[in-house]
Amino acid sequence: MFGLMQNQPLLISSIIEFAQRHHGDGEVVSRRVEGDIHRSNWAQIALRSKRVAHGLDAWKLQSGDRIATLAWNGYRHLELYFGVSGSGRVLHTINPRLHPDQVAWIINHAQDQVLAFDMTFLPIIQAVHSKCPTVQHWIALCDADKLPADSGIPNLVSYEAWVKPFPETYVWPKFDENTASSMCYTSGTTGNPKAALYSHRSTILHAYAAALPDVMCISARDAILPVVPMFHVNAWGIPYSAAMTGSKLVFPGAAMDGKSIYELIESEGVTFAAGVPTVWQMMLSHMKPHGLKFTKLNRTVIGGSACPPAMITAFKDDYGVDVLHAWGMTELSPLGTLCTLKNKHLSLPEAEQMKIRLKQGRAIFGIDMKIVDDAGNEQPHDGKAYGDLLVKGPWVVADYYHGEGGSPLVQDANGEGWFPTGDVATIDADGYMQITDRSKDVIKSGGEWISSIDIENIAMSHAGVLMAACVGIKHPKWDERPIVVVVKKPDAQFSREELLKYYEGKTAKWQIPDDVVFVESIPLGATGKMLKTKLREQLKDYVLPTL
Ligand code: AMP
Repeated sequence: MFGLMQNQPLLISSIIEFAQRHHGDGEVVSRRVEGDIHRSNWAQIALRSKRVAHGLDAWKLQSGDRIATLAWNGYRHLELYFGVSGSGRVLHTINPRLHPDQVAWIINHAQDQVLAFDMTFLPIIQAVHSKCPTVQHWIALCDADKLPADSGIPNLVSYEAWVKPFPETYVWPKFDENTASSMCYTSGTTGNPKAALYSHRSTILHAYAAALPDVMCISARDAILPVVPMFHVNAWGIPYSAAMTGSKLVFPGAAMDGKSIYELIESEGVTFAAGVPTVWQMMLSHMKPHGLKFTKLNRTVIGGSACPPAMITAFKDDYGVDVLHAWGMTELSPLGTLCTLKNKHLSLPEAEQMKIRLKQGRAIFGIDMKIVDDAGNEQPHDGKAYGDLLVKGPWVVADYYHGEGGSPLVQDANGEGWFPTGDVATIDADGYMQITDRSKDVIKSGGEWISSIDIENIAMSHAGVLMAACVGIKHPKWDERPIVVVVKKPDAQFSREELLKYYEGKTAKWQIPDDVVFVESIPLGATGKMLKTKLREQLKDYVLPTL
């Protein structure tokens, strides 16, 4: 027997339609590439996304055609989010921090037909356009009078000139909710990047989940600044959840430095911000020496790589801001777990609460997770046993776009497919998951595992350390030994020996790194994460000290 409820497909167009009808005056504020502040609202975003849909129809683009963006967080990008997916095409957000050859490879692999880009990225487009035969239309995200006359890009149109002739009314098409809505390529630190192809259904379920109180707690009373880029897994789904709930959105555009982000947070009354740890490191480094404080910011979600404890403490003690540690992946749309306390934890001493906050958090309903050993046997949830982390759920990939080599899923005894995350983790009795490492970053020493994240976190709690990366170095007796590569804060004075001494009592003796290597900078990948593959290359001639 079927239920007798309306069977309405979960479509992205319904979110923007709802935003227009029910909280059209909710603000959308953007710092533009030009440097000025642009003010819009959900009704305007909806009306202009309808013009986008008409524009794509006029170009006779079919359902499922890929429309790519190479763009910062801003209102035009947001209009494309809704106009492209809402009209049945696939929004393909490309990471502009990738090498132009990789950008071209991705465009060709996705067979993008349209590419819309911020003027900042014109040099990338000039470098790649002749190598991308599938792209028929190039759109510069600018006013008509800002379009360069001699860009060398055939048929280049300005976004404003393109959408201007079209009406602000549009009947969004209805189709199967499993239709593809957007795609995002993984960072591809090994081999070629692979694309997660999200559906309308997966995106909407993820947007509902992201807004839950124990997840990002997104509401109409929030002003949200996603520092996380819209080219990195749909800015963690925030644009959709914000449109659903009517929160104010504040976009930083190209100005991603600590000072600009801080000023925008203050001038727009931001209550909630989200980003990777490296971005917050820059902002805190700007705030401390200037004695700055936040007026309204009350929480921030930090994820993408492990959040150092020192950052959680600094946010809480110095600025009264709660850090919510989150874990996710491109393949998970991206949210998997988020760390909020349970009722029973509220009476625990601060130090005990901190131990929990450091974990990557509890699974969000929709995501199921387990840890398994090499033979696939599930490991206990005791907070000690570790294993490969597997996940499943309606916003987890089943396959990659044009995936080679078959399904990535691992089947269990019941024939259920689980996605192997490539992370190694523990899960405790309360369901809190903690990442020990990327499986390829784990350091194996004398048959035991050392978590590079733990070693980095200790270094990061030292007052003079700006950034720290722990890598394993081959060792004739122990297989591998950890060393820690450190960037000092400006003017910090401390020696290798002092830092090694600092480790004493904070971790088991055999886990203390064998050496400290001071460097000017640690290579970062396109999404702001430390690139350990590159770091290892840089260290290829490094020799461990004989102890
Ligand atoms: P990406 O798909 O590029 O977002 O990368 C996903 C990977 O980032 C995960 O598999 C983890 O290895 C890592 N990651 C994401 N969030 C965290 C976190 N909070 N702590 C540690 N690692 C994380």
